[in-house]
Amino acid sequence: MSVRVRFAPSPTGHLHIGTARTALFNWLFARKEKGTFILRIEDTDLERSKKEFEVSILDDLRWLGLDWDEFYRQSDRLSIYREIAEKLLSEGKAYECFCTKEELEKLRGKGYDRRCLKLSEAEKETLRKERKPAIRLYVPKDGETRFNDYLHGELCFQNNVIDDFVILKSDGTPTYNFSVVVDDIDMRITHIIRGEDHISNTPKQIHIYNALGIETPIFIHIPMILGQDKAKLSKRHGATSIGEYRSMGYLSEAMVNFLALMGASYNDKQVLSLEELVEIFSLENLSKNPAIFDIKKLDFLSQEHIRRKSIEALTQLTIQFLKEKRLEHWTIDKSYLTRVLSILQTRIKTLKDVIIMGDYFFTEEFSRDVEIPIEEKKRLNYILPELVDALNKVDDWNATNLENKTRTFIAEKMLDSRWFLQSLRIIISGKKVTPSLFETLEVLGKEKTIDRIKKGMD
Ligand code: GLU
Repeated sequence: MSVRVRFAPSPTGHLHIGTARTALFNWLFARKEKGTFILRIEDTDLERSKKEFEVSILDDLRWLGLDWDEFYRQSDRLSIYREIAEKLLSEGKAYECFCTKEELEKLRGKGYDRRCLKLSEAEKETLRKERKPAIRLYVPKDGETRFNDYLHGELCFQNNVIDDFVILKSDGTPTYNFSVVVDDIDMRITHIIRGEDHISNTPKQIHIYNALGIETPIFIHIPMILGQDKAKLSKRHGATSIGEYRSMGYLSEAMVNFLALMGASYNDKQVLSLEELVEIFSLENLSKNPAIFDIKKLDFLSQEHIRRKSIEALTQLTIQFLKEKRLEHWTIDKSYLTRVLSILQTRIKTLKDVIIMGDYFFTEEFSRDVEIPIEEKKRLNYILPELVDALNKVDDWNATNLENKTRTFIAEKMLDSRWFLQSLRIIISGKKVTPSLFETLEVLGKEKTIDRIKKGMD
C-alpha cells in the first residue's frame, strides 16, 4: 500500500513554526516513500477561518519548497460530512440532539445526559418544526479505547470520560474531529503525522472510525516545540511564524533544515538540504522528546546555507529580498551587487545582513555604528587630502594596488597603520567591521571611495 499523508492546517493564522514542521515531516515521509502528500485546508470554523490566511499558508509552503500532490478545502466538502452523519444516524450510531444553548449550559461540567436519545419519533417531529437538530455520536460508556502511537506506544483512554459529542452542528457544519476522520478515510490516509497536542482528540476520532467500521491509520504524534525555558513556544519567545523569519532574511533552505532537526536526528548530520533530507528521512529519525527552539542554531544553519549558494543564486535571492524591502534601486546594477555579495557572502547570516552590514555599498545614507573622535578627525584632516592625491593616481583600481599605495603612504607619513586603516574603514563605511578594507575599496570603486574620504574631511 503506498503512503498517503496529509497536512491539514486551519487557516486561522499565519503558518507557525510548529505547524510548518508538521508539514515538513509529512512531506519528507511522502517524498521518501514515493507516496502522496495531500494539503487539506480545514476551514469549517467559519468564524475564525480567513481566506487571507489560507493564501499566506500556501505561499509559505511554496517558499519552503513543500509542494503538494492533491488539494482539498473542507468548506467545499460540507455535503460529504452531512451524508456520512446521516448514514450514522440511519444506522443508529448517532442521534439527533435538539437541546438549546441554554439547556446545554445547565449541563455544563456534568456531561451530556443523553436526554435527546430518549425522545420519541413524535416528540422529534414536533421539535424539528421549531429548530434544526445537531447530530451526536453514540459513544459507549464502558470499556476503554486503546491505540498504538508510533512514538508513544500504546495509549489507553477510559470511554466514560467521553461524552456523546456533536459531529454535525445544527447549522449543518461538521465539528473538527468529524471532518478530520471523514476526510482521512475518504482520502485514504495511511499515516497521520501531527502534533502531540492532538493526542487527546485521537480517542474521539477512533470512536468515529469504530462507528463507521473502518480501521484506523497509523498515528504518529510528534513532540511540541518548546522555548529555551521549556515552556511551549509562543510569541513571548520571539517570532513564531514562518513569514517573520522569511522577512528577517533567513534562507528557506536554512528554515527547512532547522525545522527538520527539531525533534529528529540524522546520524549527527546537521547541515542538510531538502534533497539530502528526503534521502535520509525515516520515521525512525523522529524522537518523542520535546524539541527545543534554538535561534543560534538557525543562525548557524543560515550562514552555512548562504555559503553553499553559488554567487548567481545568492544574487538572485538578494534581488528578490531587496525588492520585498523596497530597496529595488539597490539592485539595478546587478554585476555591482554580485561583486558586493562576493565579499559579503562568508560574513552574512541572513539576507537582511546585506542591508545591515553592507548598506554603505549602496547609499550615502548608510548607518554609522561608530564615529571618529573630534581630536582624531582634526589630525585626519591634515593627512587625508594627501591620501586623496595618492589614490587619485591609482589607475588600475584593485585591492593589491590600493594596498600597496596606501601602505607606502602610511610608511612615508610615519602613521600608526592600525589607527589609520581603521579610521579609513569608518569613514568609508561607518562600521567597525567590514570585509578586508582594500577589497571593500575595490568593490566600492574609485569615485565613491575618493568622494567619501573628501566628505570625511568636512
Ligand atoms: N487542523 C488541525 C490543526 O490545524 C490539524 C488536524 C490534524 O492534523 O488532525 O491543528
